[in-house]
Amino acid sequence: MKNITPLLFCFITLISNAQTAKIHKETISHKGKPKLIVGIMVDQMRWDYINRFKPYFTSQNGLNRFLNEGSTCDNTLIPYVPTVTACGHASVYTGSVPSINGITGNNWFDNQKQKSVYCVEDESVQSIGVENIASGKMSPANLWTTTIGDEMKIASNFKSKVIGISIKDRGAILPAGHSADGAFWYDSKTGYFISSSYYAPQLPTWVTAYNARHRPDSLYALDWNLSLKKSIYEANCDNDQNEYESTPLGKDQKGFPYNLHGFIGKDYSKISSTPYGNTLVAELAQQAIINEKLGQDNITDLLAVSFSSPDYIGHSFGPDSWETLDGYVKLDDLIAQLFTTLDKQVGKDNYTVFLTADHAVANIPGFAKKHKLPGGVVNEDQIKKGLSDFLMSKGLNGKLISAVREYNVHFNHSLMDSLNINNDKLIALSAQYLEKLPEVLQVVDARNATASGLPQSLRERIANGYNPQRAGDILIVTKSGYVDGFFTGTSHGVLYNYDAHIPLLLLGAGIKHGVINAPTYMTDIAPTITTLLGIQMPSGAIGKPILEVLK
Ligand SMILES: [Zn+2]
Repeated sequence: MKNITPLLFCFITLISNAQTAKIHKETISHKGKPKLIVGIMVDQMRWDYINRFKPYFTSQNGLNRFLNEGSTCDNTLIPYVPTVTACGHASVYTGSVPSINGITGNNWFDNQKQKSVYCVEDESVQSIGVENIASGKMSPANLWTTTIGDEMKIASNFKSKVIGISIKDRGAILPAGHSADGAFWYDSKTGYFISSSYYAPQLPTWVTAYNARHRPDSLYALDWNLSLKKSIYEANCDNDQNEYESTPLGKDQKGFPYNLHGFIGKDYSKISSTPYGNTLVAELAQQAIINEKLGQDNITDLLAVSFSSPDYIGHSFGPDSWETLDGYVKLDDLIAQLFTTLDKQVGKDNYTVFLTADHAVANIPGFAKKHKLPGGVVNEDQIKKGLSDFLMSKGLNGKLISAVREYNVHFNHSLMDSLNINNDKLIALSAQYLEKLPEVLQVVDARNATASGLPQSLRERIANGYNPQRAGDILIVTKSGYVDGFFTGTSHGVLYNYDAHIPLLLLGAGIKHGVINAPTYMTDIAPTITTLLGIQMPSGAIGKPILEVLK
């Protein structure tokens, strides 16, 4: 610098200031408007996991980055029932609830067709990636309202790129929305990511290339070993082996370490119940960012990523298991890797990420019992049989109950009409039986849920889950801690806080640093993102933008 004359130095300074001003102006015109939105769903993640597992997140670039730089909404609730995967993925991206977006369950009983429907089934499309399989005959056709991605498409004259990736078909399809460029999910028979002809006639080359690497085999070869010292699991979790945990990796495998190399070339379904299911999703997401050039121009793109393995692991081993803690420690590493790729490809200040869950989960009933906590097991098939038997004992037809699904009791309305049976009478008779069951708190006339005797916020959640075509006539509200399932493992689906309280973390362009303790809802996420982008809210959105998180 000492060789430069003062005049020349002054000139250089002027030029560089002018350049800074120009760059600055460009930055200002897009200030807070990210080039890429990344939505991360962690299937079955409870809110309290963040605080419980935080001491064991080794990287500053994973979940800690949200806590250190982003916004944390600590009281985010799901404003409807049932709290299950399809409803959660649909609600986050539509900002809406099952009564309006139509996704009333993973499966629902269609009251007109009188048959069970899977949330993303679509007979009119074909599997892409692997031919002649049913697992690709899927689309968002059953979703009735628009998503964040659909509104981004509309606002950009369909120039925004929108991609969904998950192990579960519904975890990729519902977040990606109707006008997505692609949704990719895992086929557990072949170990490949597949799609459907709804999106495109063939897989993009980067998906085919990823499949050709046979990553499930090389991941199986690593087995599942603990990431942290054994003493950490001993101090923070239930026993490694319990009679109330199930054994998704084989009856003979009841604790760490898990041998996975026996599945190589043989069984591609097992990877979902290990942390390596998350590895597959994180790796394919990074391939999407690079190959689809997401976030490379000023038209905002959307990448919707859903990690399904925490749900499979959680159902089998429960929230207090070594497997769950270890799964989250490994997921934290994968999120850090994803951020590294985003920083490199898109630039640190050019993208916005939100992380949330589709639902949380109950303790394993056996664990609850061990610790004298309330709860137990319910079985919907037994409820259906018991109720049908009771109706027959009252001289009625046992086929009047079509289905008991996600705590919904569906009546057979055409049979009711032909037998001239009054709806109110059948509800009253069913309630007479159901309300005597030890696990039942009360039953609610679904169509008139707002008139029930429950606190208002809970009545609203039932009303928000009710749809005349796709929901039952009665909703069974179980007592706290009761889980629909078996002696081993656990589940979710009800309105209690263990199922309904989810994490919500935001980070990146346009997002402030801070903690929001005021109540927020799953349905607020979509309006927050569309407000950040300055575009229309999804058509059925009922939430409010969380203004406290926006710069
Ligand atoms: Zn689940």
